[in-house]
Amino acid sequence: MSNERKKGLLVVVSGPSGAGKGTVLAHAIRNYPNLQYSVSVTTREPRPGEVDGINYYFVTKDRFKEMLVSGELLEHQQVYGNYYGTPKQKVLDKLEEGYDVVLEIDVKGALDIKNKFPQAVMIFLTPVNRSTIEERLRGRDTETEEQLKVRIESAIDEIKQAVFYDYIVVNEDAEKGAQDIINIIKAQKCSVDNNKKFIDNLIYGGNDL
Ligand code: 5GP
Repeated sequence: MSNERKKGLLVVVSGPSGAGKGTVLAHAIRNYPNLQYSVSVTTREPRPGEVDGINYYFVTKDRFKEMLVSGELLEHQQVYGNYYGTPKQKVLDKLEEGYDVVLEIDVKGALDIKNKFPQAVMIFLTPVNRSTIEERLRGRDTETEEQLKVRIESAIDEIKQAVFYDYIVVNEDAEKGAQDIINIIKAQKCSVDNNKKFIDNLIYGGNDL
């Protein structure tokens, strides 16, 4: 089998705050162990229950800048006044090892990734309806009223960007949403685009079938 075929797939999942990305991805990873979550670096404060190295790598602004300057980030963005970035080497290593890697990042970061990795599959996760966004954000109870307003407004703005993605997954039920994501990954791995080198090997010969 060709090396190209064995490499993992880069998966980008975005969606507005309150879409339930974290829960859906946790289910997806549990049900499909070849999928690995890329833990981002952030300068925001941890929320109650968040664990350094699991949810995020929580770093100072200085450390973030250092990582940026030394080229350690695959992409980065400022979101709601905090900096977020994807550690580069870990993602590249995992893909090389054959794992599929999921980046849970904002729309701007996602478009940046698509430019750098056109073969990445882009999934946009949405809640079933508008009121769910607000309910989920309020239920989290970690933001001030002002912060909540900003997050609700930008959630609606973000949904407008869904047209730039390859797939929409509606999070009606976390288990079903997770299964949809797994199905998309499996289909994408079988896509012609993802197998061009493999097909070339079949046609022109290769020693690794
Ligand atoms: P939160 O503060 O709610 O965890 O995340 C806020 C937003 O930042 C979410 O849309 C989340 O997907 C995005 N985000 C988290 N990590 C990254 C990252 O590494 N890069 C980018 N561009 N966005 C991220």
